[in-house]
Amino acid sequence: MSIQFADGYKDDQILLCSKCGNEYMHHNLVNVGDFLGDDLSIQFWCENCNATRWLEFRQHKGYTLVQWCDHGDNAVPKSNPDATPEDQF
Ligand SMILES: [Zn+2]
Repeated sequence: MSIQFADGYKDDQILLCSKCGNEYMHHNLVNVGDFLGDDLSIQFWCENCNATRWLEFRQHKGYTLVQWCDHGDNAVPKSNPDATPEDQF
């Protein structure tokens, strides 16, 4: 799933749903995966198709890697399997 954007206001870009391409995405939960903060995930849900996806940021050898991950509704990313959705705020 590639990360796609639409033109926003001035220099902003609008994050698009990875499933349907809709512009109305809402961030919902945040998960910091380990004590070093090398993994950070933000859960989004789409107002149009109700898909729930995590936008994951990982640090690897100086790179910052970003990808969409589908862990299912209210699922927790693999980087923090002990957390519950309620723990993630
Ligand atoms: Zn959607």
